[in-house]
Amino acid sequence: MSGAQSVLPLVCAPGYPSARAWLQALQTALPEERVVPLDMLDAAQRAACEVAIVANPQPADLRTLPNLQWVHSVWAGVERLVGDLGGSGLPIVRLVDPQLADTMAEAVLAWTLYLHRDMPRYARQQAARQWLAHDPVHARERTVSLLGLGALGEAAAQRLLGAGFQVCGWSRTRKQLPGVHCHAGAAELPAMLARTDILVCLLPLTPQTQGIVDAQALAGLPAGASLINFARGPIVDDAALRAALDSGHLGHAVLDVFAQEPLPESAWQWTHPAVTVLPHISAPTDRATASAIVAGNIRRWRATGQMPQAVDAARGY
Ligand code: NAP
Repeated sequence: MSGAQSVLPLVCAPGYPSARAWLQALQTALPEERVVPLDMLDAAQRAACEVAIVANPQPADLRTLPNLQWVHSVWAGVERLVGDLGGSGLPIVRLVDPQLADTMAEAVLAWTLYLHRDMPRYARQQAARQWLAHDPVHARERTVSLLGLGALGEAAAQRLLGAGFQVCGWSRTRKQLPGVHCHAGAAELPAMLARTDILVCLLPLTPQTQGIVDAQALAGLPAGASLINFARGPIVDDAALRAALDSGHLGHAVLDVFAQEPLPESAWQWTHPAVTVLPHISAPTDRATASAIVAGNIRRWRATGQMPQAVDAARGY
């Protein structure tokens, strides 16, 4: 392992606008290292690099680091990295940051309350100058179901329980979370969907989850249910979503993520009366806390050789 003042490359997508801000945050968190953009390194320095910090790197750039042992992403979602590097055997460590989970849990609660308290309906009424009160539904009468009970899903479940909702969750392997009705595997999904008022997607994008919220899944929700997608666009089948909204079976969709981002101007979601479009803001990475997490992981590895848990490339997350 390298000694003090090792050179630690930051490998970003070309022209990544936040590269400089990341360099500063990472350098502050790792004063014992020299954090540098990849293009500042000569061949000998590149050969000395055993770990790299990455933000949407080009695979060809990483191949210029012949002795790389692992990469640390500054993001939680790593489907692109897994797609690019999964076959290479290079371990990929993703960001697991309690601050990120907390920010996501807050967003889940905020937009759940938006739907729970009928805000889209009252906004429509306001536009029509219509003074009309509807009977409220108590949170305890509303079931919010989470697709994905990982770092983010679990934090969201806690926040929703605290707000008084009935909370269900679905994962690949069975979880036991106090107060949460936990479901696991494809066989148990329909039963959860059938009792769901608000479905929140917090799954990673993998070959198994792509398009998993399809026409059948949406039809399995009770009429008038709503969807919040805070995970990745392609997990939801767009055509099926549009059909379910057009028919009125699905009451409303809050969409923060899309198959194509930025969402093209011509996209139907912008103007659909039952869609709220958000520009991928539900849980932005906090550079300071993320850098502290990355720093801790790299420091521990330098000191002990112990690498943080890597993504399972075969599983895709
Ligand atoms: P995580 O800790 O890896 O958790 C993933 C959860 O999904 C786990 O509970 C996992 O089940 C479950 N899962 C995966 N594949 C499944 C399948 N085929 N069937 C059923 N359940 C499955 O991930 P995380 O940190 O919570 O993050 C989730 C995703 O959120 C990220 O991948 C990223 O795409 C997205 N994200 C979005 C934003 C935003 O701003 N919009 C911000 C951060 C992250 P097991 O528990 O059994 O493994």
